[in-house]
Amino acid sequence: MLLLTCPYCGVDAEETELHAGGEAHLKRFGPGASDEDFTAYLFHRENPKGVHFERWRHANGCGKWFHAARCTNTLEVFGTYKAQTTEPPKDLLDTIRAKRPGFRWRDLA
Ligand SMILES: [Zn+2]
Repeated sequence: MLLLTCPYCGVDAEETELHAGGEAHLKRFGPGASDEDFTAYLFHRENPKGVHFERWRHANGCGKWFHAARCTNTLEVFGTYKAQTTEPPKDLLDTIRAKRPGFRWRDLA
């Protein structure tokens, strides 16, 4: 079972207490965007076998959205952090790189 720590209330929440919200850190496009950018925003998602950044909601707890970094292959959770960020915290990326040498996230080294 997936166990994630809510960064707002500190509770270790089981998967049944949470609601999955898909990929984290999507760049949103609206009116005025090119068809290509808008199509990518609506339909294209990462689907890695490995480290993935996801949105979760502590639905049966404080109700807030947060982000989690976990491995889709092993279910190892690297960490969770508040949703009001545009990219994962540096210390979390360093933790992931220490455990997964060579890991890169988008254009960040
Ligand atoms: Zn919570």
